[in-house]
Amino acid sequence: MGLACKISGHKWSGCLCERCGQTRDAGHFWDGCRCRRCGRVRDELHDWDGDKCARCGKKREVSSHKLDLDLRFLKIGHGE
Ligand SMILES: [Zn+2]
Ligand SMILES: [Zn+2]
Ligand SMILES: [Zn+2]
Repeated sequence: MGLACKISGHKWSGCLCERCGQTRDAGHFWDGCRCRRCGRVRDELHDWDGDKCARCGKKREVSSHKLDLDLRFLKIGHGE
């Protein structure tokens, strides 16, 4: 923490102190699952590209329920 922040408190701009660069868990600028300002990742609104999040790289299990649905759509797509 910088001296100015010690005396007058942090100069928060959302989750980031403009003066010393300290972050806090409030006021994030969420861009999907990742905060644009401090880079923090939350477990919501991932940008799934197949089984992987394009933003934070998190992997997910593709549920068999979804696969079943996809197969059903494929069958419909090919016609009777
Ligand atoms: Zn500060
Ligand atoms: Zn943030
Ligand atoms: Zn993500």
